Amino acid sequence: MKKIFGPLYVKNAFSPPSAEFSAKARIPDRAAFDSLVQAANENFEGFWAVQAKAELTWHKPFETVLDATNPPYYRWFTEGELNVSFNCLDRHLEDKGNKTAIIFEGEPGEVTTLTYRQLHQRVCRFANVLKGQGIVPGDRVVIYLPMVPEAVIAMQACARIGAIHSVVFGGFSAESLKGRIEDAEAKLLITADGGHRGGRTVALKAAADRALQEGCASIQRVIVLQRTGHEIAMTSGRDLWWHEMEAKADSHCEPVWVNAEHPLFLLYTSGSTGKPKGIQHASAGYLLGTATTMKWVFDIRDDDIFWCTADVGWVTGHSYTTYGPLAVGATLVMYEGVPTFPDAGRFWKLCQDHKVTIFYTAPTAIRALMKWGDDIPAGYDLSQLRLLGTVGEPINPEAWMWYHRIIGNERCPIVDTWWQTETGVHMISPVPGAIPTKPGSCTLPLPGVSAAVVDEQGEPITTADRGGYLVITRPWPAMLRTIWGDDQRYYETYWRQFGGKYYVAGDSARRDEDGYFWIMGRTDDVLNVSGHRLGTMEIESALVAHPKVAEAAVVGRPDDIKGESILAYVILKGNRPAKDGNGGAPLAEELRAWVAEQIGPIAKPDEIRFVDGLPKTRSGKIMRRLLRTIARGETITQDTSTLESEAILAQLQGKA
Ligand code: ATP
Ligand code: MG
Repeated sequence: MKKIFGPLYVKNAFSPPSAEFSAKARIPDRAAFDSLVQAANENFEGFWAVQAKAELTWHKPFETVLDATNPPYYRWFTEGELNVSFNCLDRHLEDKGNKTAIIFEGEPGEVTTLTYRQLHQRVCRFANVLKGQGIVPGDRVVIYLPMVPEAVIAMQACARIGAIHSVVFGGFSAESLKGRIEDAEAKLLITADGGHRGGRTVALKAAADRALQEGCASIQRVIVLQRTGHEIAMTSGRDLWWHEMEAKADSHCEPVWVNAEHPLFLLYTSGSTGKPKGIQHASAGYLLGTATTMKWVFDIRDDDIFWCTADVGWVTGHSYTTYGPLAVGATLVMYEGVPTFPDAGRFWKLCQDHKVTIFYTAPTAIRALMKWGDDIPAGYDLSQLRLLGTVGEPINPEAWMWYHRIIGNERCPIVDTWWQTETGVHMISPVPGAIPTKPGSCTLPLPGVSAAVVDEQGEPITTADRGGYLVITRPWPAMLRTIWGDDQRYYETYWRQFGGKYYVAGDSARRDEDGYFWIMGRTDDVLNVSGHRLGTMEIESALVAHPKVAEAAVVGRPDDIKGESILAYVILKGNRPAKDGNGGAPLAEELRAWVAEQIGPIAKPDEIRFVDGLPKTRSGKIMRRLLRTIARGETITQDTSTLESEAILAQLQGKA
């Protein structure tokens, strides 16, 4: 077995893009990529000015490109005026009015489509509904909807009239919704009776009612979309039906021209470290970033069918389901439900039925679907796919190879895109026609993005055998502007560590001899074993590469001698070995030896616990902080509601 990762780098094979892909790509080779990077290095502001003029339609042109008078509160394109919804819709109407903008499939299976003209009409009507309820530029509107076209319509309608939206993921509880509404002091809430997920009905209105009952004094109106049709309570004087309001509204609505820096949206991070942070994005810079990355990273073409599976409740659903595809006039696919309903072939069936050409999902989904074997995807025609992407977590090389072979048929490049809610858009990612990939690496920073790996002192780390802090050394147009209502926290969280010089991402990374970036995980997740810094990710990838392992999570425990010892939670492909006697012991030994061989003896887990499930966030990321608490035997203060059962908690604690 080839070693394909790890601190003890074995030079791994490059996967160059196929000649066929490159021949048609927007950025067809390394020289073209390098010339963009060079243009940005030589004249940073000039580079972004050219992009901003080419990609956006301005109502009033900008003069200043980057205003750096008050760092790190950077501002971009400051005199410029534009409207985001105009850029996503109106400007396409003349030549793309009849082009499909959205192909929607509900979980029960119904398919509806909206052309650019139809979408524009619905957005205008709904914008008038919002205006009719007294919403003015700068007001906050919270959107708590399932994955349905109305979520996009609501976001676009807000943008059209200069209102600031804050989407709250439909899987979040009443309590989370309340916290976000109160922090944003939102005036209006848009929700639905419910949504379809995993064959069940998610009772959104009921959760919204609970949130409003307990607080949320700023909310004056609730607009309710009818989706599932089940009976719900409507509070008269406060709650209005979407369909009734839309039917009465005028379909003409002039866009409100706003300043380039006008806030477009707030999006709260998951908040596992404390009070959720309301990440605030600006109109022009953000939209520019979505448009350039749609072209550079997704190589989007007029005839593509683009499917990003992320829910609109996450930043990925903002940038690559809503704003990016519409800004460039693409056709996008939206799916309401879960990937395993009614069976684990649903994603592949959607790709086949809608002739998806670009598919973008999360490693957690790939690992989950991989577990079901190769036969399921083999039953679908995936020949239209030309490009695959991932986001959200480092992708294990094993899962990368499966995606490459089984889904991409070794034909489709994979773009492993590193970015964050805060960065707004892709930052480090392969440009698929130009940059050869390596499984598990997000490769190189995009043109106009300056990323580095630095040590505690902020000095760049230049050797491949050491990891460090991933930082961004120059502002970029799509960057967050602040944390809503808390400029100080913005500085403290992202800039203070290196005295305001760098944006600190909170992730650790290494760079290999080719300059490629390898994300090791969150800074807090890096282990220090006898003075060696090891990414939990590397050990997890080694475990997942073992034929019997389906998924793994690794955490550290304080250890008197080594500093930290390594505990690995492992889900097997088959049954979990019994806990009694020494059930599982030979296999645990085999896995420890395997890790030692793959990475080195230093990385060998001290203990392996076989479990049936792992705690995940709502976006499917492993909750390592919770696992650390459990591993240390500390009192659990985190929300464990995503765990499938109490039995799993006992397994994680090593009690069952
Ligand atoms: P919170 O900040 O509240 O804890 P979060 O960081 O999970 O939430 P996001 O902004 O959606 O919320 O996720 C960004 C993080 O996801 C990155 O900082 C990184 O840790 C991880 N990530 C995203 N894409 C990749 C990738 N391609 N490779 C490795 N890690 C990635
Ligand atoms: Mg984060």
